[in-house]
Amino acid sequence: MKQIKKSLPLSCPSCASPLKVTSLACEACDTTVSGSFELPLLARLSADDLQFVIDFVKTSGSLKLMAQQLGLSYPTVRNRLDDIIANIEKIEKNIKIP
Ligand SMILES: [Zn+2]
Repeated sequence: MKQIKKSLPLSCPSCASPLKVTSLACEACDTTVSGSFELPLLARLSADDLQFVIDFVKTSGSLKLMAQQLGLSYPTVRNRLDDIIANIEKIEKNIKIP
């Protein structure tokens, strides 16, 4: 059977509000924990934004190096970081990211 890699849905497909975790399961012993848990801030970024943050940390925060690695101009990478900062601030204030 083909393994499908599912990405974590971040917002409600019906009303676009941020989703919460309500159930966690242990695959080893089948224990399930229920409740209402906020996703960690970084997990609430889009997959693309999160990858940028990971790459940013791995280059020790060098936008110059990131621009080289991504084949983009420094201002483009700088703008991308500014967008992610704005998205993080929206998440902190619980504003929907369009
Ligand atoms: Zn367990």
